[in-house]
Amino acid sequence: MAKDYYEILGISRNATQEEIKKAYRRLARKYHPDFNKESGADEKFKEINQAYQVLSDENKRKIYDQFGEAGLSGANQTQEQWSRMKDAEFRDLFDELGNFQDLMDNISEMFGGTSRRRTKERSSGPRPIDGEDIIKTVEMILEEAYTGKKINLEIEKGVPCDVCGGYGYDKSSEKVCSTCNGSGQVSQRTMFINFVSACPTCGGSGYIREACKKCRGMSYVYTKTTIPVNIPPGVDNGTKLVVDRQGHSGLFGGRPGNLILIVKLTPHTIFKRKGDDLYVDVNITFPESVMGTSFSIKHLNGEDINIEIPSGTKDGDKIKIKDKGMPKLKGHGHGDLIAIAHIDVPKYSTLSKLIGDGKKAEKLLKELDKVLPKPERIASHEQ
Ligand SMILES: [Zn+2]
Ligand SMILES: [Zn+2]
Repeated sequence: MAKDYYEILGISRNATQEEIKKAYRRLARKYHPDFNKESGADEKFKEINQAYQVLSDENKRKIYDQFGEAGLSGANQTQEQWSRMKDAEFRDLFDELGNFQDLMDNISEMFGGTSRRRTKERSSGPRPIDGEDIIKTVEMILEEAYTGKKINLEIEKGVPCDVCGGYGYDKSSEKVCSTCNGSGQVSQRTMFINFVSACPTCGGSGYIREACKKCRGMSYVYTKTTIPVNIPPGVDNGTKLVVDRQGHSGLFGGRPGNLILIVKLTPHTIFKRKGDDLYVDVNITFPESVMGTSFSIKHLNGEDINIEIPSGTKDGDKIKIKDKGMPKLKGHGHGDLIAIAHIDVPKYSTLSKLIGDGKKAEKLLKELDKVLPKPERIASHEQ
């Protein structure tokens, strides 16, 4: 039994003309014989065209909905039906096929096929096609971003198929299409005008070809390759690094694509990064905040960094250590390291329960409280 036209286009029975057109375009691209070398794609392409010719015409669609395919005088109705189409409708479909053919030419050329435009160039061999880029994500921690990193990246690189030489089909099996005699076009005569459209047998290429058995028409085979990459110091989350000409190979002498690395930086538990600056939270005691202090912290590369807390440091104050931030990816030098001071306030209740030093601290605090000048209770904001 013949397949349902709605099923063929994958649409509902109450699909609008716009939906029908969209479904047709999508499927025709997918199954066009120039692009899809799988067996059965040819047949599918014809089915899609047949379904579209009926469903895109409201009158034919009505007949089909009521009586099915039989109502449309059998499977070979196309010739008769097409000639009965109104000229305007015909022109519309022709435009559709015209644009579609341009698109197919582009796709076909991309994959090394021979399109109508390229038939002229056949004597001088196929036009070179540049290889596609390979895009990879590289996960890094901040320590690695700070110092830079050498990695060995494993990629699957596409190289031209050694059986078909990148054509995607067996050249010896290539035959001129008997429907269109190699022109890739068929003409339909209506009462007034002669319309030309893509040949339904060969899909407009003018040739009947057998897809290459090794690459299944894709022109490429894929091999695992390891590529050493030097990731420079200073990369950030989302940094794009381009390794020239290490992408998929080109076809027919085309340029290879690039290998593009996108850095994914894991958030750090201690250091926060903003641009080229690094932020670190440091804790100080109340006496330290009054009198000032200094201590060292370990940097991302293991280096000891001295932090000078000046006297009178308030909670949240920022202390800038120049040139100790991230290395600048563009240009020279480093950003800054910024330490944010936090005054550690012990709970009095825990302090008073402590013995020894805790008891002493409690006593000293009480004495300190007696001698410290009381501040203005209501604070005014600096303008
Ligand atoms: Zn091949
Ligand atoms: Zn043909």
